[in-house]
Amino acid sequence: TRLRGKGQPPGCPRRCADMNDIKLALLGSRGAGKSAVLVRFLTKRFIGEYASNTNSLYRKRLSIDGRQLNLEVFDPCSQQNVESRCILEEPVDWADGFVVVYDISDRLSFLNAKNVLCQIKEARMESCKSEADVPVCLVGNKQDLCHVRQVSEDEGRSLAQEHKCPFQEVSAAEDHQEISGLFTKLIRGVMEH
Ligand code: GDP
Repeated sequence: TRLRGKGQPPGCPRRCADMNDIKLALLGSRGAGKSAVLVRFLTKRFIGEYASNTNSLYRKRLSIDGRQLNLEVFDPCSQQNVESRCILEEPVDWADGFVVVYDISDRLSFLNAKNVLCQIKEARMESCKSEADVPVCLVGNKQDLCHVRQVSEDEGRSLAQEHKCPFQEVSAAEDHQEISGLFTKLIRGVMEH
């Protein structure tokens, strides 16, 4: 999926015609549950196994606060490692907002989420020359695995505070409500931006 050039950089002034088009991108380590979280939000279901070797672009019409929106969500297949510097190239140029996902039972995925949040900020400053915050939310997934957690909820919360973004621990395997609430919050953030 080539996304470059289709939209405006996040946070830059949006054209009026685009106001009902919302573009989000999911970022985080492979295996953190990005696809599971997204599919939960879009379909209220948990399937268990998701194709992870292709870029996927999901579309959905939804209504938030009485507004009809065309939502597009990019779920890239690229491996997003702590060391990787170029992971954001495509989604950052395209998306209005970002969902950064880590797995609470995998510390490396949390370190990667930290890195991704910094990269989003840097990339946005480069493309928009603005220091205003880009709409992002941080998701600590696999809360059902809290008996083997490697990242405390406090760590997730303070990372989110550092980046002034909403945060929630969720379980794509068990819960729809919290995931839905978080996406709605992010979409509102994009609409107000
Ligand atoms: P992605 O590579 O980040 O898109 O991750 P996937 O959505 O493909 O999920 C990776 C694996 O984690 C799959 O085996 C999922 O079934 C599993 N998984 C995803 N979310 C959860 C969750 O909330 N709890 C548990 N226990 N497993 C999950």
